[in-house]
Amino acid sequence: MLNGSDNNILVTGGAGFLGSHICEALVNKGEQVTCMDNFSTGNIENILHLKNLKEFSLKTQDVEKEIFLTSDLIFNMACPASPIAYQKNPISTFQTAVIGAMNVLQLALRNKARVFQASTSEVYGDAKVHPQPEDYWGNVNPIGIRACYDEGKRCAETLFFDYKKQHSVDIRIGRIFNTYGPRMQINDGRVVSNFIVQALNNDPITIYGSGEQTRSFCYVDDLVEGILKFTYQEKEFGPVNIGNPKEITVLELADIICVLTGSRSKIQFKSLPQDDPVRRKPDISKIMDLIQWQPKVSLEDGLKETISYFKNSMK
Ligand code: UDP
Repeated sequence: MLNGSDNNILVTGGAGFLGSHICEALVNKGEQVTCMDNFSTGNIENILHLKNLKEFSLKTQDVEKEIFLTSDLIFNMACPASPIAYQKNPISTFQTAVIGAMNVLQLALRNKARVFQASTSEVYGDAKVHPQPEDYWGNVNPIGIRACYDEGKRCAETLFFDYKKQHSVDIRIGRIFNTYGPRMQINDGRVVSNFIVQALNNDPITIYGSGEQTRSFCYVDDLVEGILKFTYQEKEFGPVNIGNPKEITVLELADIICVLTGSRSKIQFKSLPQDDPVRRKPDISKIMDLIQWQPKVSLEDGLKETISYFKNSMK
């Protein structure tokens, strides 16, 4: 069943940045998609183009509430994910990650459904192993400002594994690294969106700390392809890293964005937030061996698409 089309699929957080791209890819595959969102960080504009399709339906609900649906497959994408958004209400972020995981797992158990968990590179914290392989346990401050998200997502992984052990739930866990592309929120505070908006407005580019810290940015289309291929395969439940291993510094990112936008922005240094990871880069050998997937879109091409999306949204 799962490898055909016409499955009933639930996407929690389906109106968010990643969730909406997943809904779209599933509809294009011929699946029946229910998008569930409480619109805390999701945006109705992200799914307007899908709303009237017969393969698509929308349910406005918080993932913290028990879910009553019939599903063959669930993608649990619901959680604020940018540091600014998830730190606004840390208790709520933790609840979304943990109670949300319980609710999708209960639904999967009742429906004998498969369930994909959007986990995160944040489970590695400020990593002491570089690049980060899946068997690295991480270095997370349990009482810091990022803990609500990091520990929430770590706890969700624990729950997924325990539901598999105790109840044989058919799980998939993907650890998603920094991703960018159209439908990112303009004001979500992430580095790519901040720099593009600042560059387009010729405002100062805000570099936190020295700008020598690194990230590895994956274009959303590549990421969604990886998530779907991983979720539909039968051999491995994860966790697997999903991301682009090309690592750059924050300063280099600022340069590229200024060149691509033709901006006159100057650099402005600001203080580094607490517990900001110094280096981040996924080791993706596990997923490459498993499904022969690797990112195809270069940073320059992906940024061009993203910049044109932001130009249109800022009109
Ligand atoms: N950052 C920055 N300027 C900004 C926003 C972010 O220098 O305006 C830095 C941030 O300190 C971090 C990196 O860019 O080192 C990525 O931050 P982001 O919030 O996008 O996500 P993270 O990878 O930290 O979860």
